Amino acid sequence: MLEACASRTDGREGEGERHVRSDEIAAGLAEVDARIAAACHAVGRDRGEVTLIAVTKTRPAEDVRILCELGVRDIGENRDQEAAPKAHELAGLPLTWHFVGQLQTNKVRSVVGYADVIHSVDRLRLVEAISKEAVRQGRRIGCLVQVALDDDPARGGARPGDVLALADEVALAEGVWLGGVMAVAPLGEEPAKAFARLRDLALRLQEQHPRATMISAGMSDDLAEAVAYGATHVRIGTALLGRRKPFVR
Ligand SMILES: *Cc1c(COP(=O)(O)O)cnc(C)c1O
Repeated sequence: MLEACASRTDGREGEGERHVRSDEIAAGLAEVDARIAAACHAVGRDRGEVTLIAVTKTRPAEDVRILCELGVRDIGENRDQEAAPKAHELAGLPLTWHFVGQLQTNKVRSVVGYADVIHSVDRLRLVEAISKEAVRQGRRIGCLVQVALDDDPARGGARPGDVLALADEVALAEGVWLGGVMAVAPLGEEPAKAFARLRDLALRLQEQHPRATMISAGMSDDLAEAVAYGATHVRIGTALLGRRKPFVR
């Protein structure tokens, strides 16, 4: 076991259940790893070009700790109310925290307190708020510009036509660094087609910002398509950790 990820409760009660869960997650991880490797192989990419972000929303902190023990270093969360306590509880672990959900400006103070990278930057007001708060807290936060690939910002993301200007704003802002782009495949379109547009946009962005090479795309059902179109970061929940309970209001 990796010492840096060790739980305070190791060797105490609940150990049997924990082993079962650990085996389950290890199996999910092996399967996801194999899918990523196959997707890379299919298009002649090196496996090392793709980082797995384990999306742990709705999962207990203990799952994150197990992932850490299994060697996963990148964790994604989408709701501040849930992510903040988890990230603070696990603050000593060698993890990079990715905030991947829609972000209201009134949550920025909290999110900047634990997130290393925010994938859902989609408007100037948000850039300004993240920058101001990062400076105040003495942090440097990675920002990905989220793209609404269906040109409808309702579900989060900037219109494709606004992405390059927004990226320029991130690049100029203090306390943040421009990582690249992020997208969720739109409903009702083949993911491959949408991810092809994302890649074109990412390449145009890189002409102006050569170091902003991150392309965050691909979830459990469409990771192969995302890898085929250049994803550097895939965000995987279900395939790794099992089905989530339906969201209850
Ligand atoms: C939940 C979520 C994921 C992971 O989705 P799965 O289908 O469970 O793999 C990825 N990205 C975002 C933005 C999410 O909210």
